[in-house]
Amino acid sequence: MSKILIVEDEESIADLEKDYLELSGFEVEIENQGDTGLVRAVKEDFDLLILDLMLPEVDGFEICRRIRQVKNTPILMVSAKKEDIDKIRGLGLGADDYITKPFRLRELLARVKAVLRRGQSLATNMLQVGPLRLYPDQAKVYRQEEELFLTAMEYRLLLAFMRHPGQVLTRSRLMEALWDVDGAFVEDNTLSVYVRRLREKIGDTDAAQPLIATVRGLGYRMEG
Ligand code: CA
Repeated sequence: MSKILIVEDEESIADLEKDYLELSGFEVEIENQGDTGLVRAVKEDFDLLILDLMLPEVDGFEICRRIRQVKNTPILMVSAKKEDIDKIRGLGLGADDYITKPFRLRELLARVKAVLRRGQSLATNMLQVGPLRLYPDQAKVYRQEEELFLTAMEYRLLLAFMRHPGQVLTRSRLMEALWDVDGAFVEDNTLSVYVRRLREKIGDTDAAQPLIATVRGLGYRMEG
């Protein structure tokens, strides 16, 4: 079931939207302020945000911009003014669709479904382990809110780990995964160097709770 977050300060409107969408089979949560809405949108995994533009504390422009720095959650922007929607488009903040108030709930539902359909292929490819998120389509990696910049080798290595969380990946299997980057053969001792650098980049510094654990005599395991 798709989970939707409505960020809307007009409580009666938010409630109407929630009821209607729930009847259509969605799971819906509401936040009435911009700041709390932003926090939940970043920390939790929603399939779609319905984001009002004029909000107390942090407005919809800012929320959209901040979310796009870390996440691809589809966003449907809501505004009472057509001019504002033109402004959002102009700013290229990355909202997926727009709707002007007042609107019929039926129209809202149609937009929600369309945005979700478009977002599905992106969302299903995302890999997440602990604080790390990897988007194979864009070759982007994030640790919580921060984008990480990895070399091709480090990226390939992390991709191999994140595709198999909780499994031991043997050294030979990892060397195979890295083999054809730049046509270079990865030697056994080089692999250890790559793993060490990757650990540094992903902030894997707590020996008591490693993200990538060494399995002696075998290889490594990403803790899922
Ligand atoms: Ca408002």
